[in-house]
Amino acid sequence: MGEILNLMSAVCFILSLKNLSSAATSIRGNLYGIIGMAFAVCVAFVGNNFSLSFIAIVIGGAIGIYVARKISMTQLPEMVACFHSLVGLSAVLIDCATFLSADSKGIDTITALEIALGTFIGAITFTGSLIAFLKLRGSYRGHAIPLYFNMGIAVVNALLIIAFCYSANSVSLSLLILFSLLLGLTLIVPVGGADMPVIVSMLNSYSGWAASGIGFTLSNDLLIITGAIVGASGAILSYIMCKGMNRSLIDVIFASGNNISASAQTKNKNRSFKSGAAEDAAFLLKNASSVIIVPGYGMATSQAQHALKEMGDLLKKNGTSVKYAIHPVAGRMPGHMNVLLAEANVPYEDVFELDDINSSFAACDVAYVVGANDVTNPAAKDDPSSSIYGMPILEVNKARTVIFLKRSMGTGYAGVENELFFAPNTMMLLGDAKKMTEEVVRAL
Ligand code: NAP
Repeated sequence: MGEILNLMSAVCFILSLKNLSSAATSIRGNLYGIIGMAFAVCVAFVGNNFSLSFIAIVIGGAIGIYVARKISMTQLPEMVACFHSLVGLSAVLIDCATFLSADSKGIDTITALEIALGTFIGAITFTGSLIAFLKLRGSYRGHAIPLYFNMGIAVVNALLIIAFCYSANSVSLSLLILFSLLLGLTLIVPVGGADMPVIVSMLNSYSGWAASGIGFTLSNDLLIITGAIVGASGAILSYIMCKGMNRSLIDVIFASGNNISASAQTKNKNRSFKSGAAEDAAFLLKNASSVIIVPGYGMATSQAQHALKEMGDLLKKNGTSVKYAIHPVAGRMPGHMNVLLAEANVPYEDVFELDDINSSFAACDVAYVVGANDVTNPAAKDDPSSSIYGMPILEVNKARTVIFLKRSMGTGYAGVENELFFAPNTMMLLGDAKKMTEEVVRAL
């Protein structure tokens, strides 16, 4: 019975992933995920201590409900990072328990290798995800760490894995845990802000491999399969994101962080720029025949998507062509903007990905940039010393007029100045994205 439920659960997870890859089928994808998880929970009850499993589910479920109610949409990435850290920690604890409960005959080499690899990946996932959590919260920016230092710790870890496989003693396991925890810290501390999306996805992949490792340790087929699905899909997503940002995955994972402090410097104080009010923006928009709306993180924090949709609809009624341009890393998680625009019922056919919209900016009258910054920053193309150099951008600078809606002249997530604020065809519209867009709607 358990085997059949395992198989059905694995099939549901695969169907879930397949359906989640398109916005139109994503609800069905979620349903498959829920059904697969329900089968998995049933399997956990079959042949296990019912009361202990039940207590764990009640405690875990209560914490889950509390966290889900408290967390806002913009805090989701840091919550995901926090949850990844728990997967890593459980992998380490389960491997320790397996080691401690081994019978007097000791542990064979294969089991020792499973324990060592599970502990290594789990510990890296644990501390790495905690640092990612702090960075995504904005509580910690990072520090430079020389690459050779991380290489050195990686070599020590490799030696400790070999030592544990041969000796299977508690000293080598304790040292392996310690050095793997350290490597998790030192790998993520130097990662620059602009690379954090890739790192979150990479940690997702690590947590999948850690879960798969737990599956080997516990001889649980379902954990092996689902862990491998998460591990492989996280790795593929990281690769696709790196391609989208024109970065090498190896460069991101083994970052040295030399540009972290440099990028945080501001040099544009006291420069003059054009600023306008909601009425000025409404005037420009009303007289435009084509408008491209570029949402970013600020739209998410202020929840401006409904006001934007209203603005877009008014402009369309006026005969204006209205499109929405989405950068693959706009916001704080992949797909962040797509989800918010879908929530506001913006039609899918009006939403365009970077490659499909970039050529349209040159022929567009107004680019309305709402709470986006890094994803439009020309430094990514022009300044080789910039931490975002090489990342493709939405080329809003090519539009006849750019309206930049944000609260201040401050930098975005990567801490890099944006020269576009000072361009002759840019009008800064300073204020909260939602309130200001509502004012524009009233003025329209
Ligand atoms: P961004 O570069 O962080 O810029 C967002 C801008 O929104 C800020 O400059 C901020 O300026 C403005 N803002 C904040 N609150 C606002 C409000 N209430 N009303 C109006 N404006 C507001 O965001 P982005 O252009 O979307 O680029 C995303 C960045 O996040 C990239 O660097 C990316 O690498 C990184 N990242 C992405 C992901 C992902 O998966 N998508 C994950 C982690 C990190 P003011 O403070 O002046 O208002």
